[in-house]
Amino acid sequence: MLDTAPAGVLEIVGDRLPSRVRAALSRYTYGPAAFKVDFAIDGDIPWTNPDCRRAGTLHLGGAAEQIVASEAATTRGRMPDRPFVLLGQQYLIDPTRSVGTTNPVYAYAHVPHGYEGDATDAVIAQIERFAPGFHDRILAVSTRNPAGLEAYNPNYVGGDIAAGANTARQIAFRPRVTSNPYSLGVKGVYLCSSATPPGGGVHGMCGLYAANTALSLL
Ligand SMILES: Cc1cc2nc3c(=O)[nH]c(=O)nc-3n(C[C@H](O)[C@H](O)[C@H](O)COP(=O)(O)OP(=O)(O)OC[C@H]3O[C@@H](n4cnc5c(N)ncnc54)[C@H](O)[C@@H]3O)c2cc1C
Repeated sequence: MLDTAPAGVLEIVGDRLPSRVRAALSRYTYGPAAFKVDFAIDGDIPWTNPDCRRAGTLHLGGAAEQIVASEAATTRGRMPDRPFVLLGQQYLIDPTRSVGTTNPVYAYAHVPHGYEGDATDAVIAQIERFAPGFHDRILAVSTRNPAGLEAYNPNYVGGDIAAGANTARQIAFRPRVTSNPYSLGVKGVYLCSSATPPGGGVHGMCGLYAANTALSLL
C-alpha cells in the first residue's frame, strides 16, 4: 500500500510499473500550495464580528467575488494581495493548548504552486482586516513555506496539500483514467493516498477502497 503522491510511486516502484501507468503518473498535475503560519498571541483575536470569537475555524476571504478572484490568481500562479486564509483558534474549546494568556493560532494561506516568497505579512494583513489590532497581540510567529511543507511530507509536491490538482479531469479520474485507480499494474502494490478517489478531504475513504481492492484481488 503506497500512501504517496504519484511522484512517490514513481520514485519507489517506477521501474516496475507498466509503461502506460508510468506515463500516466508522470502526467499527473499538482495544484496550488499552502503557506503555513502559526502564531502565539496574547489574549484573544479582536474580531470585529462577535460571532467569530466563538468559531473554532474561520475562512478569511471577504466577499464571494474576492474569494473567486484570489483563488483564480493562485491557481494561475500569481500571488494575490489578499490570499484566502484558513484560521483555527482551537484553544477556545481546548484550553490545554494555552499557557496563561498566551494562545496558539493556526493559519495557512492558499498561495501559488511552489511559491518561493514570504506570505507571512499577507496572512497577518488578511486577519487584521477582520480583526483590527491582531498585529499588536502577536508574541511569536512560526512559518512553513511550500518547500518546507514538501520537505516535511513528500506528498505535498510544490506545497500542494491535496496531493494533486483538483482539475475536472483529476476529480473524475485520479490519478489516471482507469476502472481501478488503486491498482498500479504491479502484483501486490496498490495506491491508497488522496491521489486516488474520492480525493483529499474525504478522509479514510481512499484507504478503504484501496484495501477492498487489494482484498478482492487476493
Ligand atoms: C496544513 C494542512 C492543513 C490541512 N487542512 C485540511 C483540512 O482542513 N481538511 C482536509 O480534508 N484536509 C486537510 N489537509 C490535507 C490532509 O491532511 C490530506 O488530504 C490527508 O492527510 C491526505 O492523506 P493521505 O493518506 O493521502 O497522505 P498523508 O496523510 O500525507 O500520509 C502520507 C504519509 O506517507 C509518507 N510519505 C510520502 N511520500 C513518501 C515517500 N516517498 N517515502 C516514504 N514515505 C512517504 C508521508 O511522510 C506521510 O507520513 C491539510 C493538510 C495540511 C498540511
